[in-house]
Amino acid sequence: MTSSRIVYLDNNATTAVAPEVFEAMLPFFKELYGNPSSMHTFGGQVAHHIDQARQSVAALLNAHPDEIIFTSCGTESDNQAIRGVLEAYPDKRHIVTTKVEHPAVLNTCRFLARKGYRITEIPVDKKGNLSLEALSQALTPDTAILSVMAANNETGNLFPIDEIGKIAKEKGVIFHSDAVQAAGKIPLDTKKIPVDLLALSGHKLHAPKGIGVLYIRRGTRIFPFMLGGHQERNRRAGTENVPYVVGLGKACEQAILGISEENTRVRELRDRLEKGLCERISSSYINGNPLWRLPNTTNIGFEFIEGEAILLHLSSAGIAASSGSACTSGSLEPSHVLMAMEVPFSYAHGSVRFSLSKYTTEEDIRYVLEVMPGIVQKLREMSPFFTKEARQMEQARK
Ligand code: PLP
Repeated sequence: MTSSRIVYLDNNATTAVAPEVFEAMLPFFKELYGNPSSMHTFGGQVAHHIDQARQSVAALLNAHPDEIIFTSCGTESDNQAIRGVLEAYPDKRHIVTTKVEHPAVLNTCRFLARKGYRITEIPVDKKGNLSLEALSQALTPDTAILSVMAANNETGNLFPIDEIGKIAKEKGVIFHSDAVQAAGKIPLDTKKIPVDLLALSGHKLHAPKGIGVLYIRRGTRIFPFMLGGHQERNRRAGTENVPYVVGLGKACEQAILGISEENTRVRELRDRLEKGLCERISSSYINGNPLWRLPNTTNIGFEFIEGEAILLHLSSAGIAASSGSACTSGSLEPSHVLMAMEVPFSYAHGSVRFSLSKYTTEEDIRYVLEVMPGIVQKLREMSPFFTKEARQMEQARK
């Protein structure tokens, strides 16, 4: 970034560690360095703090503390959920998921397909919504697990996990939801949502990277993925990452306090940004379902230009955002999520995700609205896709 100003709007990629979280972690790098499994007081003191953190995570999900296990990240939680259930039900050989999952789920399922499992990936419509009928029909007596994310990381789209959970329950299928993007942004109540497994990740809610959670409803049959010691009541071996566990506990406490108030403010800022960009920049389109999304996310396609170029220019202006594209073998492929939604190629390529946080300010939004139209205009002037006809259409629209 060459600008002295920094506007961080890439909070679905990762968030800043909250100062309170950082403070809460510090003693566990210094005086409180005991191993929670040790019998002496040193260990006992630390074990007590892990218990407290477990209670805070459980409170965020309205769960029992013994339903929470700490992992190293959201990816591990997703792997543990899916592979742990398959291991516990060796006779069932079918997995149902969606086409728009994060690679933590999608690539796990595709790996399992190569190992001989049958995978059904449910498609989405143009707004990114799932057909619950198709989902219900896909579940068979051979289905071991259904995995559907709570919120999409690229578009922010929410999925009706309460209804999906009911369908899974009726069909006797274990339901896992990747709630990595939803946790801390929208309420998640495991007493109301019939979900068996939920994956969370610390670094999406102002805790550090390298700590995750898997919620396992009492009574769910699941085999541990990490084998070794007796930590986490034999469900996840390995000495606990104490400072990070404590940090995540603090982050969950803060998320509970801020979830409604902050989200109203963040939603207003997101809406202002989105409306402002779409008003100021012609041929720009919102990707996803604008009526049912995370409050902090907007994904906008700017026709005729490439997302990567926009990001580079934004970055020079000190603005961090993200594009859905992935560079594969020299060609720029639009993201699998936008492709599954059949977003037209001309603006799937030029799609940018802005994701806000509790630290986003009105000033930040004003600055982006000031800078972005000029960037798009400049890139369109250089773009081979911005043909004479497209220019004329633009003029006519003005
Ligand atoms: N699932 C979703 C929906 C995500 O957005 C991410 C990260 O971006 C993950 C899983 C993976 O989480 P982690 O980075 O903690 O492994």
